[in-house]
Amino acid sequence: MSKLYKSIFNVNGCSVVKQEQTDTTVTITVRLTKGNASRCGCCGRKGKLYDNGREQRVWRTLDLGTKMGFIKMDTYRVKCRK
Ligand SMILES: [Zn+2]
Repeated sequence: MSKLYKSIFNVNGCSVVKQEQTDTTVTITVRLTKGNASRCGCCGRKGKLYDNGREQRVWRTLDLGTKMGFIKMDTYRVKCRK
């Protein structure tokens, strides 16, 4: 099932950990896979976690039929040399 969601939402380097549906929305919660976790957003290098603020961000994505699609993920900052 999570493979289906991955291809529908076109999320790469993530694994789907949860999916929720209401009458009007479909939301998936994703987590970065090991190889892609804790990378710098600018240079792509691996770095130490600066904080793992446990802040969850939600992105609106393409609608699925009549339902609105959302992607949820924990965000954090990475300490980078640059
Ligand atoms: Zn960097």
